[in-house]
Amino acid sequence: MSVISLASGSSCWRGLEYYKNNKISNLKKINKYEFTSTVVGTNNYDVYLDVSHPRRSTCTCPLANGKRILCKHIVATYFKAFPEEAVNFEKEQERLQEEYEDYQEKLYNKTQNYIKKLSKKELIDELSYILDYVPDWVYNDFIRRNDIE
Ligand SMILES: [Zn+2]
Repeated sequence: MSVISLASGSSCWRGLEYYKNNKISNLKKINKYEFTSTVVGTNNYDVYLDVSHPRRSTCTCPLANGKRILCKHIVATYFKAFPEEAVNFEKEQERLQEEYEDYQEKLYNKTQNYIKKLSKKELIDELSYILDYVPDWVYNDFIRRNDIE
């Protein structure tokens, strides 16, 4: 498992931010797999990164200290040690975003096509059903916009 796949999404994003804002100082390569760094912020934290066994990585921040958590500081150090992984991460996120948007667009079009084929009775049933489940503000907005009250 890679550092990225073991870290949470928010640790990855925040780690990328730290990396882009040059918050990693003192990166030292111990060997091909192990690195140390200091991540600079309001507080400075010491990171030990082991890419062959990511869970053995450590950081002195409150979130990760003494736990097997891959925090944003560890991810930032990983990106600093392997800049191409930062590029890959961003590209992959963009690809996923585009995929999601494509999916949403297709679903929207399918829904529109479906609605257009419904009979008046089916539309009444569907709208009544939906109005039973929407939050109050949507229901109230519906009443207001259509001058029902
Ligand atoms: Zn940390």
